[in-house]
Amino acid sequence: MTTRAEEQIRADIVEVGRRLYARGFVASNDGNISVRLDETRLITTPKSVSKGFMTPDMMVVVDYDGRKLAGERDPSSELPMHLEIYRNRPDANAVVHAHPPLATGFAVAGIPLTRAVLAEVVTTLGSIPIAEYGTPSTPELPEAVRKYIKAHDGLLLANHGAVTCCRTVMSAYFKMETIEHFAKISLVARLLGREHLLSREEVQRLQGLRGMYGIAAPAPVCSDPAEASGDQASCQILEAPESATERLVPDVPSLLRQASRDGEIRLTYRELTALIADAVKSLRD
Ligand SMILES: [Zn+2]
Repeated sequence: MTTRAEEQIRADIVEVGRRLYARGFVASNDGNISVRLDETRLITTPKSVSKGFMTPDMMVVVDYDGRKLAGERDPSSELPMHLEIYRNRPDANAVVHAHPPLATGFAVAGIPLTRAVLAEVVTTLGSIPIAEYGTPSTPELPEAVRKYIKAHDGLLLANHGAVTCCRTVMSAYFKMETIEHFAKISLVARLLGREHLLSREEVQRLQGLRGMYGIAAPAPVCSDPAEASGDQASCQILEAPESATERLVPDVPSLLRQASRDGEIRLTYRELTALIADAVKSLRD
């Protein structure tokens, strides 16, 4: 028999799955969602089912060692990653994993979302690092996630996707939305060739606002890399310039202007060979 609270959790998981699918954050049967029921049980999405078309009765109840306790279907093979997050984050009651295409593009390119650019991202997530690649469905993935999850509510997974955790399944889903939105804005800014970063002072001010918005950040933001000493288990490392006028990320147009002023043109090996091939071809024609 399911309690009223459990019924609500099942309905919320169905709704989050529907939104993940509707927004294109998952394709086919990708992605998985889980929520703590109590100290001994959690409930999770089944394997081999599109997250856009689930019903509340499809969910699987498991213990914190991943053993199935109830449900007709089997849990996702990514369940060990969820279990690892619950072990490391007693404050987190829900985990959402998806493959949102822009965020996953950054994860494939090996570019973390760690620049201080948008105030709402600094206050709700801080930095979003990339957990090293681990073969899906093997212990490598939980191992890679363990290193960062204590200090971060959202991670990119190298060559794979993204994962978030929070107090409720809806808030974990909203963090996934924020990551994808941030990836989209970052991509546009980089294509336009300009990315103005928030200063360290502004980052510190935003850090102070986190409490006011009721966001229990897992770890403080370190905008000074020296103070963080590379420890991403206890500190969120955000790239932010020391002063509001300093630029950490040069503009692409100014780099190009600089190149033409110096009379120097820089080409990659591929661009150079393409130019030579073109020249040879036009000589022959
Ligand atoms: Zn996945």
